[in-house]
Amino acid sequence: MGTVLGYLRPYSRRVAVGVTFKFTAAILELILPLLLEHVIDVAVPAEDLPAIWHCGFLMAALALGAALCNVTANRMAAWVSMEVTRTLRRDLYSRTQHLSCAQTDRFTQSSLVSRLTNDTYNVHQMFDKVQRGGIRAPMLVLGGLVLTFLLEPALAMVQLAVSLLTFFTIWRVTRRGIPRYAQAQAATDTVVRVLRENASGVRVIKALACQGREQARFGSASENARRTEEAAGAAMAMANPITDFLLNAGLVLVIAVGAVRVNAGQMPAGQIVGFLSYFALIQNATLGVAKIFLRISKGAASSRRLEEVLLAPDSQPVQPHGETSPAELGMENVSFSYLGVEQDLSDVNFSLGKGETLGILGPIGSGKSTLISLLLRLYDADAGVVWVGGRDVRSLSRQKLRDFGVVFQNEALLSDTVYENISFLRGLSREDVTAAAKTAQAWGFIEKLPEGLDTYVDIRGANLSGGQRQRLLIARALAAKPGVLILDSADSALDYRTAAALRMAIRRDFPGVTLVIISERVASLRDAHRILVLEEGRVAAQGSHEELLESCGRYRRAAELQKGGAGL
Ligand code: ADP
Ligand code: MG
Repeated sequence: MGTVLGYLRPYSRRVAVGVTFKFTAAILELILPLLLEHVIDVAVPAEDLPAIWHCGFLMAALALGAALCNVTANRMAAWVSMEVTRTLRRDLYSRTQHLSCAQTDRFTQSSLVSRLTNDTYNVHQMFDKVQRGGIRAPMLVLGGLVLTFLLEPALAMVQLAVSLLTFFTIWRVTRRGIPRYAQAQAATDTVVRVLRENASGVRVIKALACQGREQARFGSASENARRTEEAAGAAMAMANPITDFLLNAGLVLVIAVGAVRVNAGQMPAGQIVGFLSYFALIQNATLGVAKIFLRISKGAASSRRLEEVLLAPDSQPVQPHGETSPAELGMENVSFSYLGVEQDLSDVNFSLGKGETLGILGPIGSGKSTLISLLLRLYDADAGVVWVGGRDVRSLSRQKLRDFGVVFQNEALLSDTVYENISFLRGLSREDVTAAAKTAQAWGFIEKLPEGLDTYVDIRGANLSGGQRQRLLIARALAAKPGVLILDSADSALDYRTAAALRMAIRRDFPGVTLVIISERVASLRDAHRILVLEEGRVAAQGSHEELLESCGRYRRAAELQKGGAGL
């Protein structure tokens, strides 16, 4: 928890001031019952009216003082915990941005999201509650018990017993209830997920006429959420009634024991009233202590989850400059596995010169996208060397790696303007964006949009056709004038004519660019200097179009099958 606690350090002075206010308030609150007792036992029997007024005034002043101290301290606590949470969340976010893909895979995205939301919330609650009650509640309990023991040990014993009972009951009840609330939260997350999937897949669901099944899926998720919520509610339902019962039972006990002792002349009647005040005070403070313990135990668990991310090592350090290679892009005996179970790429070798084009063909799951992930150093190879710009990719600065323009498979658009989707937070000029859109064969339709480049794109590009979305993504990849352009199945939604025009435009407008094209279409690959045919993570064959027509049966079959379309 040390790292997370460290975030409090810049605010230590404020915390100290707040705690002092709390301390003062607690002392004032502890004095109040003593004054009350004094009025009843001394001033009232003596019919000393000025003394009664005097005490009354003093009590009001103390109560007001305590309230002011508490309000000030609470506001300071709220401010500090907000600030701490804000910086914590900022650092966490920036750390998640710098995690390698392998680390993100390991944490999983949904867990990173819940760390950024739920866990920072828990830490916030912990800081807030501990500052508010961490000093006050234990002080009231201890101070109250000490004072009552000094006044009347017999009654103090009653008090102590009831307090202990309250503490352990609350502790046990909430301990059991909290995990159920976590389950209930998870069940609600599932309901939201089903809803979201349903909303985004609504066309498919209608087209395949599976509304009924979807309804059932939603129904069962919703029923599960209801059941877990009910269980959590049932577990926690005991908490308040039990504490109320203990409070009332304790009051009765205090009065009964007190009355017997007053009758026997062993203590003055005013002490019963004083004790009743202390009793309520201590009882409430005990509840406070129990809740703070729970906050701390939740907060500590969340802190550990945050620290796992905050302290995650840089798993892809930039290595000192090593060997070089004549290849602009290449691989040498590269093997890679995502999970260490089976090889997703094995023994891949190829080499490509500057300004040349690499084509990649292969069935789904054969490792095409994985290969480009390694070129971009999203993952590090387990064995072998990946060459980029003639250097080992592990020795390249992140800056140099940005020289890539990439269209990933299944990439999504932002719900923002067409301009922002192409510029993509890089602040590119409108000329550059327009030029890129023209090369990407996107200008034709952008021009016809109601507000051109400033037209808003709906979430995931729902107001555009598949081919239009794809061309915007290609324009995004081209806009920063990359030295290496990678297109992963970027022609899948384009007709043959547009795809051909796109290839020509890229060669015309970016004559020096090194190209990597993944495509299922032989027509898109045939002009490449080198084509890799991948099968189950291995290079089954490589060569030029003509060479592969000769040597590779799979390539030849694909070419023959597609002939009709390619001639268009
Ligand atoms: P392709 O792009 O040729 O369709 P991929 O390169 O995406 O294929 O995937 C190759 C293999 O790696 C597949 O078996 C796929 O299931 C696996 N794979 C891809 N991405 C991951 C990942 N993030 N974690 C684990 N396995 C993955
Ligand atoms: Mg792929």
